[in-house]
Amino acid sequence: MARVALVTGGTRGIGAAISKALKEAGYNVAANYAGNDEAAAKFTEETGIATYKWSVADYDACAEGIARVEADLGPVDVLVNNAGITRDAPFHKMTREQWAQVMDTNLSGIFNMTHPLWNGMRERKFGRVINISSINGQKGQFGQVNYSAAKAGDIGFTKALAQEGARAGITVNAIAPGYIGTEMVMAVPEKVREAIISTIPVGRLGEPEEIARAVVFLASDEAGFVTGSTMTVNGGQYLA
Ligand code: NDP
Repeated sequence: MARVALVTGGTRGIGAAISKALKEAGYNVAANYAGNDEAAAKFTEETGIATYKWSVADYDACAEGIARVEADLGPVDVLVNNAGITRDAPFHKMTREQWAQVMDTNLSGIFNMTHPLWNGMRERKFGRVINISSINGQKGQFGQVNYSAAKAGDIGFTKALAQEGARAGITVNAIAPGYIGTEMVMAVPEKVREAIISTIPVGRLGEPEEIARAVVFLASDEAGFVTGSTMTVNGGQYLA
């Protein structure tokens, strides 16, 4: 029987590429999203992948949402914690709200999603948890104290939980993408984007599919000995 994969923020950008690649690899996929119903409807129409709306920032909503997915598709074998937001500002202008929104979604979100699924994965002696971190969690980024802190936190979460899951057949890994040509990055002014590209040794932005292929590998049986790692996919921009 096909394994079940749940992708948060799985209807747009990198998450949409991940959902599609997992489907192509034979998984039964559920794609979660937060509020953009139009994008979600278009995504389902194009891919046939079922979408589920809730916020990863809300623990109870995650538990209820996961229960809905499992009632429809069966127990979740692969969780991809991809949902993420930015609320950039230089630190002296950053508000408590900008800090909290990013921490709630990008860091607490991975707790809120992984925790309700954990015991089921332990009982079934199989699980794959893949957390999408960021190059900016590895190196820090001006104007992103909140985002860099949350994304660095995702890596610490990954390393600690990998140790707890290992004997139960659960691997926990992170992927740290560099700059990928999604809406998040295309919203940056062109001049800034050109300056970013000039710092990437391969001389271009990454493609969402390049992150998706790394996810498919980490989700596979062949990756059973890979746990607690952070896979850097950034065109050589930062060598962690
Ligand atoms: P997009 O902004 O293109 O898509 C974000 C997705 O996350 C959307 O589906 C959105 O749902 C969903 N989402 C946002 N907040 C929540 C929430 N609270 N609950 C559930 N879903 C939510 O982002 P990207 O594809 O660019 O980024 C995906 C991940 O990759 C993020 O974690 C990001 O930090 C990380 N990343 C991105 C890089 C890049 O260059 N783009 C580089 C490094 C890391 P909706 O459609 O409803 O708004």
